Amino acid sequence: MTEISIQKTTRPGTMPDEDKLGFGTYFTDHMFVMDYQTGKGWHSPRIVPYEEFCLFPSAMVYHYGQAIFEGMKAFKTHDDRLVVFRTRDYLQRFNRSADILCIPNTDVDQVQEGLFKLLELDKRFLPGKLGTSIYIRPFIIATDPFVGVKSSDTYRLFIILSPSGTYYAQGFNPVGIRVEDKYVRAVPGGIGEAKTPGNYAASLRAQVEAKHEGYAQVLWLDGVERKYIEEVGTMNIFFKINDELITPELNGSILGGITRRTVLELAREWGMNVSERKISIDEVFAAAENGTLQEAFGSGTAAVISPVGELSWKGKKIIINNNQTGPTAQKLFDEVAGTQYGTLPDKHGWVSTVTKL
Ligand SMILES: *Cc1c(COP(=O)(O)O)cnc(C)c1O
Repeated sequence: MTEISIQKTTRPGTMPDEDKLGFGTYFTDHMFVMDYQTGKGWHSPRIVPYEEFCLFPSAMVYHYGQAIFEGMKAFKTHDDRLVVFRTRDYLQRFNRSADILCIPNTDVDQVQEGLFKLLELDKRFLPGKLGTSIYIRPFIIATDPFVGVKSSDTYRLFIILSPSGTYYAQGFNPVGIRVEDKYVRAVPGGIGEAKTPGNYAASLRAQVEAKHEGYAQVLWLDGVERKYIEEVGTMNIFFKINDELITPELNGSILGGITRRTVLELAREWGMNVSERKISIDEVFAAAENGTLQEAFGSGTAAVISPVGELSWKGKKIIINNNQTGPTAQKLFDEVAGTQYGTLPDKHGWVSTVTKL
């Protein structure tokens, strides 16, 4: 494998106040970059200062959206290690998204090595409080200077790092979600199961309308019948009905979350009755009416588990578990967060130590 070159910044930044980090605003001093050219493959892996870069205005990514991304996290353990969670699973999904967007695969080992070197170099930016992390954003863009629809012959991969504040600044509060019945996010046969920018651009109208009505997020229904539940904006969704833990099956239009997989693996180990199946919005509202809807929560890297306290659909509202965090959501959150911050043993080999702090 090609040696990763390192060019250090001459203008080191300061780490912002840990309590004011928020999400996605601050970036560390360096980034990992690699280029692709047809015939040559991925080449020139390097760590360089985090700064602006040049592309021609004709670069293909600006016009036809050939791009993919990932989102994962690094944590500071109570015994002062910098660790990452299920990195290889995220990087394998990166390749799955690449396949869908006709972007050449990357070598998981090579990208992981670049990431680990970058984290080691910028480890002083890792916040320490429970709930804080470094959010890791790998992405690939098509760079051919050509205005025409085709798949590019050149690409650039980046990994940038963003120190992030605790997701639950006000504690573990259930969110209100609006079930979208006009717009759709994705359809089977489309690109819904790829982490690609177009899916998020396509979600903005619905998100704006939900915010306008006072809801934090949108719950998407299937694009054909507008009947079966798919997922939330950047989270997969779970319902507990009559002691059955249900999440929609991966049908080609849903993003297969790593946190979703973690939740399923844990719940099955705990002996819960777990189903990946079609679940209609009528079933959820009927369960709320007859008293068998016990919990609802989202799963995603950003918040791990996000309890849902209210659902609104065509003007009807249901309140779930008295708008309180339920026991399953709490238990899952405690187990995953405990494993990530090293207060619980890593029974599944999900955690890798990158460096001591
Ligand atoms: C990233 C994402 C998720 C959650 O995936 P995780 O791997 O758990 O973070 C769910 N849905 C969408 C649309 C996403 O982009």
